[in-house]
Amino acid sequence: MIIQEPDIQQILHIARKPDAKAVNDILAEAREMKGIGADKVALLAHVQDPELLQELFETARYIKEEIYGKRLVLFAPLYISNLCGNECLYCAFRARNTAIHRRALTQAEIARETRILIDQGHKRVLLVAGEAYPQEGFQYVLDSIATIYNTRHDHGEIRRVNVNIAPLEVEEFRALKEAQIGTYQLFQETYHRETYRNVHVGGRKQDYDWRITAIDRAMQAGIDDVGIGVLFGLADWRFEILALMQHIRHLEKTFGVGPHTISVPRLEPASGTEMASKPPHAVNDHDFRKIIAILRLAVPYTGIILSTRENPQTRAESFALGVSQISAGSRTNPGGYADHEDYDASQFALGDHRPLDEVIHSIASLGYIPSFCTGCYRLGRTGADFMDLAKPGDIKMHCEPNALSTYQEYLNDYASPETRATGEKLIDDVITGMHPDAARRARNLVERVRAGGHDVYC
Ligand code: SAM
Ligand code: SF4
Repeated sequence: MIIQEPDIQQILHIARKPDAKAVNDILAEAREMKGIGADKVALLAHVQDPELLQELFETARYIKEEIYGKRLVLFAPLYISNLCGNECLYCAFRARNTAIHRRALTQAEIARETRILIDQGHKRVLLVAGEAYPQEGFQYVLDSIATIYNTRHDHGEIRRVNVNIAPLEVEEFRALKEAQIGTYQLFQETYHRETYRNVHVGGRKQDYDWRITAIDRAMQAGIDDVGIGVLFGLADWRFEILALMQHIRHLEKTFGVGPHTISVPRLEPASGTEMASKPPHAVNDHDFRKIIAILRLAVPYTGIILSTRENPQTRAESFALGVSQISAGSRTNPGGYADHEDYDASQFALGDHRPLDEVIHSIASLGYIPSFCTGCYRLGRTGADFMDLAKPGDIKMHCEPNALSTYQEYLNDYASPETRATGEKLIDDVITGMHPDAARRARNLVERVRAGGHDVYC
C-alpha cells in the first residue's frame, strides 16, 4: 500500500502541540536543503504562533531563492476535450452534468488554439482532457500532441507539451513517451480513501488504486518526469500533505527519483456542481501559504505549480514562498482561446483573467524572471539526471541563463513596449547581480537573442 493512513493519523496526533525549540530545530535542518521527514512536516503543519509562522515563511523564502533564484516558469493549459465518463462531484466536466456544452476539438481546431498560444508567446503547453475520447480513442490524444508540436506560426512553436489526462496502461504510457511529452501529470485529488469514495461516484475514476498506481506505470514505461498533486478542499490539508510525502517516498524508493512537480490546485466554483462552491475542507489563504512553504521545505528540489485558479495577489505571495511554475492567460474550456464567449464549457472559474503580457509585466515588476525555458527536457536532463543537476548553484548555472534568454526572446517577439522596457532593464540588472560564471553564460545567450537568435540554451 502506497498510503498508510493509520501512520498519518498517528503522526498528526503526536504533532499537535509543537514547541518553539522543536520548530526552530526543524527550520535549521530544512535550511540544509535536504528535505525533512513526515513527523517534522506534521509539526510544521500545526504551527499557529505568528512569530514561528514568520520564521517558517522566511525559511521557505530562503530555500526558494537559493535553489531557484528569481525564475518563474510559465505555461498555458490547452483543453482539447471536455467529454468525460466519470462523476467527480466537484468538476463541471462530470458525465451527468447537463449544464455545459460538450466538445472535443478537431485537429484543425487544436492547431488553431496552438497558433493563438504561440502568438501570445507561449512555449510550454499543458494538454488537458476529460476521461472519454472521441471515436479514435486514446489515439486522439497522441494525434493532438503531434498537432501541437507540428504547428509553427510566425516566430514560434511550442517546445514542450506536458499532459494531464486520466491514468493509462503501461503500453499507452510508452506511446505517450514516444510522442515526446515533457511531464505526465496526474493529481490523486484526495489521498483520503473514504473521501475519495464519496466524491467519485461514477466511472473508472472511482478506483482509488488504479489512480494512485498510475504514476508507477508511467515510470515503468520510461516517463521519468511526472507531476503529482492534491485538489485542496476535499479532505483535511494536513492529512493530504503527509500522504503526498508517502507517495513521494514510495516513488523515490521504487524508481530512485521522486516527482518533478507538485501541483496545488484549490477547489474553485464550477458550473453544475455544488461541492466546488462549498468545499468540505476549504483551505483559506493563510493555510494555503503554509502548505506551499511546508512543501518547499519538505521537497526542496521538486517544482511547485500554481494555476490561474488563484487570484493575482495570492499568486504573487506564493512565488516568494516556493512556487516555481505558473500558468498564465488560461482558458479551461476546449476551444477557449479562439472562442472567447464559450464559458459554459469551462471546467472551473478562474481567479486570474489577465492576458500573458500583463502577467509577465507584473511578474517582472515584482523582480521575478519569467521563463519559457525547455532546455533540460530537450537535452535529456530529466528524472534522476535532472535531480543530479538540481543542487544549489547548479540549477542557477543553467536555469537562470536559459530563463533570461527565453525571456529576451519573448520581449523581442511578443511583448508590448512597456513590458519590453521593464523586461530588458530587469535582464540587465539580474545579469549584473549574478555569479561571474553564470553571468558570462547568461550574457552570451541573451546577446545571441538580442542579435535575432531563437531557441538558444545551455
Ligand atoms: N480528467 C483527468 C483527471 O481527472 O485526471 C484530467 C483532467 S482534469 C480536467 C484536471 C484536474 O482538474 C483534476 O485532476 C482536478 O484536480 C482539477 N479540477 C477538477 N475540478 C476542479 C475544480 N472545481 N476546481 C479546481 N480544480 C478542479
Ligand atoms: Fe472528468 Fe477529470 Fe473532471 Fe473528473 S476531474 S469529471 S475525470 S475531467
